[in-house]
Parts: sequence; structure tokens; C-alpha cells
Amino acid sequence: MTQPPASFDAIVVGTGQAGPALAARLSGAGWKVAVIEKNKFGGTCVNNGCTPTKAMVASAYAAHVARRAADYGVLLDATQRIDMKRVKARKDEIVRNSSGGVEQWMEGLKSATVYRGHARFVGRAEVQVGSQVLRGEKIFLDVGGRPLVPNMPGLDTVPYLTNVTMMDLDTVPSHLVVVGGSYVGLEFAQMFRRFGSRVTVAEMGPRVVAREDEDISLEIQDFLRAEGIELRLDAKCISVQKESEGFSIGLDCEAGAPREHGTHLLLAVGRVPNTDDLGLDAAGITTDKRGYIEVDEALRTSNPQVWALGDCNGKGAFTHTAWNDYEIVADNLFSNAGRKHTDRLPAYALYTDPPLGRVGMSEVEIRNSGLKALVGKRPMSRVARAVEKGETRGFLKIHVEEGSKRILGAALLGTGADESVHSLLDAMYSRIPYTEFQRHVRIHPTVSELLPTVLETLAPLA
Ligand SMILES: Cc1cc2nc3c(=O)[nH]c(=O)nc-3n(C[C@H](O)[C@H](O)[C@H](O)COP(=O)(O)OP(=O)(O)OC[C@H]3O[C@@H](n4cnc5c(N)ncnc54)[C@H](O)[C@@H]3O)c2cc1C
Repeated sequence: MTQPPASFDAIVVGTGQAGPALAARLSGAGWKVAVIEKNKFGGTCVNNGCTPTKAMVASAYAAHVARRAADYGVLLDATQRIDMKRVKARKDEIVRNSSGGVEQWMEGLKSATVYRGHARFVGRAEVQVGSQVLRGEKIFLDVGGRPLVPNMPGLDTVPYLTNVTMMDLDTVPSHLVVVGGSYVGLEFAQMFRRFGSRVTVAEMGPRVVAREDEDISLEIQDFLRAEGIELRLDAKCISVQKESEGFSIGLDCEAGAPREHGTHLLLAVGRVPNTDDLGLDAAGITTDKRGYIEVDEALRTSNPQVWALGDCNGKGAFTHTAWNDYEIVADNLFSNAGRKHTDRLPAYALYTDPPLGRVGMSEVEIRNSGLKALVGKRPMSRVARAVEKGETRGFLKIHVEEGSKRILGAALLGTGADESVHSLLDAMYSRIPYTEFQRHVRIHPTVSELLPTVLETLAPLA
């Protein structure tokens, strides 16, 4: 039986990366808040995204370094083995602490009520959870996304894994086939290779991480192949078929359909927003063709009482962009700050080893823009810190505009690049010309100290 509606100043749907902080800020300001979560608190990043993958990447890195120990003059006596149950237990504890922390945080908020269940609009300002209707003066959606399951021939006959179910693995697959050679797929591919699996990556495009510049894709392909990962590029015609043991995957129809046998199949081909089951029509909220909620620069939806934050608005696909959405909405509500999502610079990392740190425009985007640009590049083999660590794969690449001398973008592929890229990011936010950036004295020996040196090699973008 439906209960009488309960009224709130604000309803926050989803406890991913934007919702909890926003709920805390609203409740701190004395608002009566409802927080709704249908699954685990903390959302994708905490439960089956950033946190567990980076915990597992750390275990894989430990295995990799142990395997190379003799290169460093360290002789390990015991035969190396991976205890996948311990890898999983370590990851689970980190996730449990993080997710539990978010749950306790929400439960402890003053003037906030936590509802567990699936929220769905039943009116322009009404949301239903179970048998309870909640009415909100303002409603904030932070519903995130889920793995895309492609329409692949044979997929209904074969068990498959996604980034969610990968988290339950406590054995090392004998042959992991990863469909999708982008961020999620490559992180899992490299970690499981390091845990001891045979790994094949099937990618439809001609190169991995195809949205990056070609030199980046090629270098990543090189170091993944050097670790024994099999890359099947241009796999235009992927289909799967159940076999008596495991499955087989067809990779190329034109070239005689060569098949690979695998024991575990991971789908890593993209994500879809959790907006199809939200009853958005009842609230007059529009989405684009792919289901992302349409928002203005301040993240307000087509219903002026409702905002959409995080992955579900399609304006970012990262934890830091979701968090930035929270800051934009909160600052605009409380300080009339006029903040916009369009003010942020693109920045992200790919956590292969070595990682890729990216900021600003890519080389392709610069070429397409018609800007007159200069590019500086240096291999990691000429970075002292990388040589000392024995991790010399990759390169540093920075683009600047010739006339204005502003930094346009950078791709740092190498040890520590997920951190060192931030000094360029800060310089770009501060609008420092590269000629000033070059004068800043940096600490030796670091990767960051070489960034001004990269700028000494600037030459016109051919
Ligand atoms: C394998 C993987 C690795 C990643 N690694 C990184 C990384 O290293 N760095 C990075 O920046 N990003 C990474 N990401 C992306 C990052 O996880 C997301 O960008 C981030 O979690 C988005 O946060 P969000 O708040 O928008 O949504 P989510 O974190 O997805 O949270 C949405 C929440 O809403 C809840 N919800 C949905 N619908 C409803 C409903 N109707 N009613 C009630 N509750 C609902 C969900 O249960 C969920 O808890 C990774 C993603 C994946 C898949």
C-alpha cells in the first residue's frame, strides 16, 4: 500500500561520486534531505570501478616487480605464485571500508533520511521508492551508469564477465579474452596477464585506445605485447560460441574467421547511463539519443527543479568530473557562483603500467582546430628518474600554441605520469605561458623536472 508522500527540501538519487557530498552540503545548511540508493553505497568508482581496479593493479604491479627482481639485484628464493584469494581479499577490504564509510556518512547526516531502493519519478517533483512517494523542492540525480552489453552473436549462449562480476573472481583465468581495447579493458588485461593468465584483447578498431594519438596507442601496444598480451586488432566481426570447455570467439569474418578458445570472457566495450528506468518522462526530463540526461552549463535539466550530476549527464565519465559537478551545483546554489561544467579542462589517466596522464587537447584535436602549434617530445629512456627505477617505457609530449604561448595539451606516458601531468594541468588552469612554466625550478630526480626540458625541444607540428 502506498504511504502518504513525505516532503523534503531536496532529494538526492544515487550515492556515487557527486550525491553524497552534495547531500552532506545540503544537510549541513539545514535542508531536509532524502538520500536514495538502490545498491552499494559509493557507486561504481568505489565498488567496481576506480578503487578495486587500482587495488588490483597494485597487486599486479607487485607481481611484475617480483618477476623482475633479479634485474634490480634482488634474488627471491621461493617460486613466485599468485594467491588470487588474497588479492581479492585485499581489494575487498579496501572497497568495504570505502563503501561502508559512505554509508555511515549518509546515515549520520543531520536532517537527512536514507532510503534503500530503486527511485523512479511519478510526477514532476515526486519520486517513488518502494511504497513511499517523496516530494522534493529540488531533486538531484547522480545515477551513474552500467556496463554496456553489446548485441554480439552467440552472447546468449556463453557466460560473460563485466567490470562488476570481475570483482568476484578469486581464481586466475587460464585464458582471459577481453573484448574492448580501451581504458577498462586494458587495465584488466594487463593485471590478469601479470597474475598469470594468458590474455587476448579483441579490439574492433585498428589500434587500442583509438581516441588517443596514434603514437600513444602504438607505444601502449608495444609494451602490452612485450608482456605477452595478444592483441587482435581490426576484429570487425566478433562472435562467440559455447564449446565443451569454455568458449570460442570469432574475430574476423573476412580473413577466414580465425577463432580463439578462451576460458573467461570479459566485455569492456563501454557504458550506458542508468536513465531508462527512472521514469524521466513523468518529470518532463529529456535525454539525448544515447540516454544521457540533457543539462545546461549549470547541470540543470529540462525540468528546472531537477539537476543531473556525474556520468548520467554525459558531460564527463570520471570520478573527478562527477565530483566537479557536485562543486558546481553546490557553489551555484549557495554562493550564486555562476560555475559551469564547460569551465573544466579535459584531464584523465589510464592506469596501465606505465600509466598515461592526459590533459587538454590531443594532437588530432589540435590539427583539426587549425591552431598553429608547436610540439615537444622526449622518450622516458632520457628521464633520469625512469632510468633509475628501471621503468623507461613511454614518452612525454606537450603541445603549445605558437603565438599566445599557452599550453594546449599534453600526453605523458610513463612512470608516474598520472601524478606529473598535474603540474601541466595547474599551469593550464592558471593560464601560465609555457615560457614562464619553463622557469619554475623542479625537484630532482623526478619525472616532473623534465617537463620544462621537453619544452626546449618544441618544433612546429608537422
Ligand atoms: C572498471 C572502471 C574503472 C574506472 N576507473 C576510474 C578511474 O581510475 N578514475 C576515474 O576518474 N574514473 C574511473 N572510472 C569511472 C568512474 O567510476 C565513474 O566516472 C564514477 O563512478 C561516476 O560517478 P557517478 O556518481 O556519476 O555514478 P556512479 O558511481 O555509477 O553512482 C551511481 C549510483 O546511483 C545508484 N542508482 C542508480 N540508479 C538509481 C535509482 N534509480 N535509484 C536509486 N539509486 C540509483 C547506483 O546504485 C550507484 O550507486 C572507472 C569506471 C570503471 C567501470
